[in-house]
Amino acid sequence: MKIGIDLDGVIADFVSGFLKFYNLKFNENILFENWQSYHFYDNLRKTKEEEIKLIDEFYNSNFFDDINLIDGAKKGVERLTIDNKVSIITARPIEYKEKTENFFKKNFSMNNWDIFYSEKPKGVEIDKKSICKKLGIELMIEDSQDYARGCADEGIKVLLFNQPWNKNSREYENVNRVYNWKEVFREYKG
Ligand SMILES: [Mg+2]
Repeated sequence: MKIGIDLDGVIADFVSGFLKFYNLKFNENILFENWQSYHFYDNLRKTKEEEIKLIDEFYNSNFFDDINLIDGAKKGVERLTIDNKVSIITARPIEYKEKTENFFKKNFSMNNWDIFYSEKPKGVEIDKKSICKKLGIELMIEDSQDYARGCADEGIKVLLFNQPWNKNSREYENVNRVYNWKEVFREYKG
């Protein structure tokens, strides 16, 4: 099977890393559980431009190098790779390539995935579903409810990885919620 796996919120715990950076910088105490929107500017009540600036600053800090794996992701991704063609499909901009590749080198013993980035300039919504279509992805594992639905509309089966920012999304055809990597395995052949 051709499987697409999103990076942030599924493999990499981007939000926790960002919150360490943000809370220290601004002397705040925003909790992961309270990160209710996929969009950083919504959670922080900032503009899209301010969000891009902040995430760039985060990228250039050591906090970005210390982004952790999500529980079970290493085993999960490597196990799926044994029987399937796995592609990493991220909305990170191509400018973040270097540290993104370092993350995989640091955390994985195998490295045989192609990583697809937003090729568009930063701040422009990436059309993830068209990357999936182009690659012939049959199953996508994703934490954004919008990308999940976009893929589902194209007939791609989606596992929506449960996170505080998607927990209120309603049921959708072709989209099944999973709560952890163990559940990914329970669902992926179903
Ligand atoms: Mg994501």
